[in-house]
Amino acid sequence: CSSSAKFFVGGNWKANGSTASVAKLVDELNAGTIPRGIDVVVSPPFIYIDYVMQHLDRAKYQLAAQNAWIGGNGAFTGEVTAEQLTDFGVPWVILGHSERRSLCGESNEVVGKKTAHALAAGLGVIACIGETLDQRNSGSMFKVLDAQMDALVAEVKDWSKVVLAYEPVWAIGTGVVATPEQAQEVHAYLRQYCTKKLGAAVADKLRIIYGGSVSDTNCKDLSKQEDIDGFLVGGASLKGPAFVTICNAAG
Ligand code: PGA
Repeated sequence: CSSSAKFFVGGNWKANGSTASVAKLVDELNAGTIPRGIDVVVSPPFIYIDYVMQHLDRAKYQLAAQNAWIGGNGAFTGEVTAEQLTDFGVPWVILGHSERRSLCGESNEVVGKKTAHALAAGLGVIACIGETLDQRNSGSMFKVLDAQMDALVAEVKDWSKVVLAYEPVWAIGTGVVATPEQAQEVHAYLRQYCTKKLGAAVADKLRIIYGGSVSDTNCKDLSKQEDIDGFLVGGASLKGPAFVTICNAAG
């Protein structure tokens, strides 16, 4: 973690949990010690956000939604808007997760527009990018990342409320974590990209977090890397003690 950035850990619960398991997880998180001066954001499925908001210790944890509609309120059956999240007191949203890109067909352009809309509605955005294994192996990784970033840069005017999550698709939910060197290489590349396109002041302040099979055993080595400013955690965020350990891994 570079010295200037405030460490950021997100817990992406995805479409997991039940009333009972969410209550247990909230209890485990409340029992954990979180270092002062870092941001920890948990992202339950929409239907549990109200419960989590009422029961989670919000001196330690903030909330994020896992998605938001591309525009404002209206006739969009099944969607939740950024305006509604703001109204409800949810401060963050995860956008562009690879599962939504691949399973719901969200293009780079859609993710860029969603990000801009959510920011305009007052949310902070955890914007996710990352390459597949084929793209990495075929040498098109940086081209893919550039295209994902270009679409964000085209839409986002103010980057102060954006956290960039680098999540290689091949590492998500696979147990195959990027090595600290692999992750650092891409994070440094992304910071350079941002320096070029957005200027050094924005790039130095931008938190670039890593996601993909982060666990309580590999987090420490990853967090020592200069350009890794935190994590987006999937599977391990469903286990309170493991997630709390990851939150304590600031490098
Ligand atoms: P994982 O998921 O930690 O289970 O690999 C990460 C993510 O999808 O954000």
